[in-house]
Order: sequence, then structure tokens, then C-alpha cells
Amino acid sequence: MSPATDPRTYDLDAVRRRVLPERGGAVDDSIPQLADADPELCGLALVLADGSTHASTQSDVPFSVQSAVKPFLFALALLDTGGQALDRIGIEPTGEAFDAIKLETSTGRPPNPMVNAGALLTAALVDGGDTDARTDRILRGLSAFAGRDLEIDEGVARSEHLCGDRNHALAHLMRAEGTLTVSADDAVAVYARACAVLVDARTLAVMAATLAFGGTNPVTGDVVVPPDVARDVVSVMATCGVYDGSGRWMRSVGVPAKSSVSGAIALSAPGVLGAAVVSPPLDEQGTSVRGRLLAEHLSDDLDLHVFGRRAGSAADLPAG
Ligand code: GLN
Repeated sequence: MSPATDPRTYDLDAVRRRVLPERGGAVDDSIPQLADADPELCGLALVLADGSTHASTQSDVPFSVQSAVKPFLFALALLDTGGQALDRIGIEPTGEAFDAIKLETSTGRPPNPMVNAGALLTAALVDGGDTDARTDRILRGLSAFAGRDLEIDEGVARSEHLCGDRNHALAHLMRAEGTLTVSADDAVAVYARACAVLVDARTLAVMAATLAFGGTNPVTGDVVVPPDVARDVVSVMATCGVYDGSGRWMRSVGVPAKSSVSGAIALSAPGVLGAAVVSPPLDEQGTSVRGRLLAEHLSDDLDLHVFGRRAGSAADLPAG
């Protein structure tokens, strides 16, 4: 194995060029806006402990965050409920698709916060008296993770709300089980708007870095969530973040991550860096094909695998 590369001098455009010839996967077509995504979009960014951002070509192209928002919704729900969200949602991997119509058999709870059932509930557990107030609180919370004011693509939010039949079904099922206390339609509305928040690879990398560094945004220095919340979120990303591909992901990439149908993947390497990769064509598990390859290169080149660290690696670099 070659020694780890210093992330400060890592050539992100070179690694991007390595994956561009890959033509596998298909762009999500669940809503028109996602179906229209450019399959050639490919970008990546890293954020280090000192807050420095390193980014490739196309790392500032906006896309809707989709399921990559789920770790941050979980964090906000943990924060706003004082940890009680953990009583309302499981934390076990499902081995099933992200939108499986399934709750825990004995409790009626969603299996984990990284699948749709769980994220519908975490979004509903965030503080706010009505959908507008809750959406506003989520947007402010996500903006603190990002270190800049984020916006919602209202067209995407409308499509998500209209076309999200499985999400409506899950919300009704959780109402029937007594798990969800707001109305099913309100829960879907808030979740749809959270999925429709616009980010780019740079921004998502800052958000992932905030989780990687114990809840403190390394760019702004703001404590967004306390360290125990960040630790809980990153733990669940490690076991459930790539749905029924989570085991394969941990073996080959070894970095807690969250995939999404927009083709973005947020990666939080604890104490080392935050990263984001984006490329819309997806594999059967809804993971970006080029995104996975980029993540494998990053993990290997920068020695990020949490269970296979080599000596003299990125984690040993001074923070400042
Ligand atoms: N908008 C999607 C949904 O809830 C997000 C899913 C995803 O990115 N995997 O159906």
C-alpha cells in the first residue's frame, strides 16, 4: 500500500478525471427535476479541521440535497428533543430499500433515521408549532451546518410532495401506529421541503465536516450540535447511511456516509475531514456510481478507512 497523500495538496481534479469515463448507473426519475439532472455532472470537495475547503471543477453546481439531508434532520431532532428522538426511532439497518413500507414489528417505530420512514419522523420532531415554523427551524439548522444561508427549491419541494406516494403511505402508517403525532400531510410537506434544499458539493462537504468534527462547523467555528449528538449521527450513518448497501460501503470505503437520489454522497471521516461527492447516475441501491468510485479513491489515497488506517495518515496532521 502506498503512503497516504496529504489532503491539503491532493489533486481533486485528477481523481475526478479518473472516474469520468465510468458510464454505469441511471439518473433517478422519481420527479421531473431529478430526471432532468445532467448525468455528466461530477464534483467533489473536502473540508479539513482548519476549515480549509479543497474542491474540484463543478463543486459549486447546485442540486437538491435529497436524502443526504437525513443525518442533519436526525441531528436537529436529537437536539430539539434532548435525545428523546432515540426512543421514537430505531437505529438498526434494514437491508431494504430506502422507501420500504415497513416499521419495526413490535414497536411501530421507523427502523432508523436514514430511511424515509425515519426521516419523515425526525423532520416532524424538530421544534416548530406548524409546518412553516418547523421548515424554518430546519432551514436555519441546515444553514448552520453549511455555514451559509441555504434555500429551498420550491418546484422540487412541490414535486416531492405530489409524487411521494410511498412517503404519504409511510406517514399514514406511522399515524396508525401512533408514532407520528403531526398530520401525515404536514409530515410529508416538511420532509419534502427538507429534501428540496439546494446545496453544492462544497456546501455539503462543510455540513459533513461539521459532523466529522463533533458538531462544530470548522469554517465558522459555530457549535451547531453538541459532540454526543454528532457521535450518535455519525454512528448511524456508518451502519445505515447507504441503505441496503451499507455493509458493502463500510467494507470498501470505510467512511460513515449518506447517499441520495440526486447522486450526492456526504462523507464524515471522524476527526479527519468532511467530504461530498456528486454525480447523478445511481446503482440499484440508489448510490451514485461515480460517487462511490470517488469515495473509494478518497478513502484509499487519503487513508480514511476507519478500520484500516495506515501510519502517517491525514488524521495525524495538525489541526491549524
Ligand atoms: N426525495 C426522496 C424521497 O424521499 C429522497 C430519497 C433519496 O434520496 N434516497 O423519496
